[in-house]
Amino acid sequence: MSIRLFDAPLREPSQFVGFAGNVIDRQSENRADDSVEMALADPSVRLLLMHGGRLYLKLRDGGFDPWFGAEESQPLQVSLDHGVLLGFSDSGPVLAVPAGLDPEQLPESIKAIDYRSVYMQGLIDEAAAGAMAQGAALLAWHASHRFCSKCGTEAEMRAGGYKRLCPACAAEHFPRTDPVAIMLTATREKCLLGRGRHFAPGMYSALAGFIEPGETIEAAVRRETLEEAGIRLGRVVYHASQPWPFPYSLMIGCFGEPLNDDIQADLNELEDCRWFFRDEVLSMLAREHPGGLVTPPKGAIAYNLIRAWADSA
Ligand SMILES: [Zn+2]
Repeated sequence: MSIRLFDAPLREPSQFVGFAGNVIDRQSENRADDSVEMALADPSVRLLLMHGGRLYLKLRDGGFDPWFGAEESQPLQVSLDHGVLLGFSDSGPVLAVPAGLDPEQLPESIKAIDYRSVYMQGLIDEAAAGAMAQGAALLAWHASHRFCSKCGTEAEMRAGGYKRLCPACAAEHFPRTDPVAIMLTATREKCLLGRGRHFAPGMYSALAGFIEPGETIEAAVRRETLEEAGIRLGRVVYHASQPWPFPYSLMIGCFGEPLNDDIQADLNELEDCRWFFRDEVLSMLAREHPGGLVTPPKGAIAYNLIRAWADSA
């Protein structure tokens, strides 16, 4: 067996996906219980403000600016006690903070836009989108893990938001990232794409599913592909990953080698699932398919899996 580490590409495939542009220096080893307080006392602090799955954006010069200073955030009823320290950018500390003001009551100059639209429409740069993914995941986790899961007492935020500590039983709880396997089953000639029931019209994508406790990534890829499509897989290889803040997942993209040809789609999960030859996939990627079929948009890890396969010799 040879280690292929040194054959790996210089630019990792994960660097091409949406939310991968986060350049914040997390300084995870320096997080202290007063980290948020210290960061807020720094005049250069910048905040991302979030409310119910939406990011607040200032309209500026025909574009959008997601960064708020501490003072200009005040009228938006920010809850600084519940802010999390994302880390440090070149210009200073960066926090994600829940804002209380109802999006309907925002001034004309500020819009509240859902994370998915912010990302899909490219409203902010890649570094800010990466920071949004980090902040959105952390705030969502705190919102849904307010009480200690051991004794039910309300727990308190610690370590800049990277821990909750229970004041009654001293249990420590840490933010989760839920792994999801997303896989493109492919031979040299064709690949397997499915259509979920909630997909946009004409869209086909790679199959995906949560990795379960006690499962390797490869085992999850094989199980999901068999369950959803009736296809058994031989070799499975990892390709790229993507932070996915809906609410706090990590998408793990793989390729799988099919051992059988006859698809048996799980029609509870999928509306359709079939083989696509390379020419058809290329036309879907280019948005030139005669029947209007499309892949997910650029930035989605599924797009990157499909693109990497379609461009491979
Ligand atoms: Zn407790």
